[in-house]
Amino acid sequence: MGLRAVIVGIPGVGKTTVLEKVVASYRGAKLANFGSIMLEVGRSEKLVQFRDELRRLPLDKQRHLQKTAAAKISLMKDKLVVVDTHLFIRTHEGFWPGLPFDVVRALKPTHLILLEASPAEVAKRRASDATRYRDPATEASLAEELELARSFIVACSTLTGAPITIVRNGEGMQAEVAQFIARMLERVSS
Ligand code: ATP
Ligand code: AMP
Ligand code: MG
Repeated sequence: MGLRAVIVGIPGVGKTTVLEKVVASYRGAKLANFGSIMLEVGRSEKLVQFRDELRRLPLDKQRHLQKTAAAKISLMKDKLVVVDTHLFIRTHEGFWPGLPFDVVRALKPTHLILLEASPAEVAKRRASDATRYRDPATEASLAEELELARSFIVACSTLTGAPITIVRNGEGMQAEVAQFIARMLERVSS
């Protein structure tokens, strides 16, 4: 069984940016973008057209797509599977778990990595990213999300036994952060 690193962090913190660099520098690694898999299935079932519509679907539809994505990722057999996902989703019914028990069990993480940046940095990144429809946020609401993320990740670690690493994705540091994560995972696999 290879390594399965599940990388989480609030929207706009920089997960996809960093993880694309991690898999590019790690031979045998495969990136599983959980949202992209949900989107592909959601499009084929004519439920959504765009990524940022997923979290606005009725919760039973989101749950169906979430379970389907987890089942697909659970079949991946690469040397290192890097899962780019969310601990919780801000939905119209409240904060909803991205990694409830059945999902995190299917993903079988060997490592849990939480990416963080300051509320001001995340606010700036969300505002500067024209490719997405981001929810409006204040520095206070981002601080609340960052705090909530630490609570949710503890639950995942307790359920799975996987260790947590908290990594700060500082401004302009995406390449260094990717290298740090890749080296950490190389060390445990050697
Ligand atoms: P989502 O959860 O919504 O998919 P994400 O965590 O994957 O978000 P990205 O899309 O990777 O976030 O990054 C959001 C924006 O922040 C992008 O414009 C990206 O270029 C920028 N960014 C990422 N990391 C850094 C960094 N360390 N310094 C400055 N900008 C960054
Ligand atoms: P992302 O590009 O990572 O923001 O993912 C796009 C969308 O996919 C998110 O806004 C969520 O609606 C959805 N998504 C991603 N991961 C999960 C998850 N683990 N559980 C439920 N929805 C998720
Ligand atoms: Mg992303």
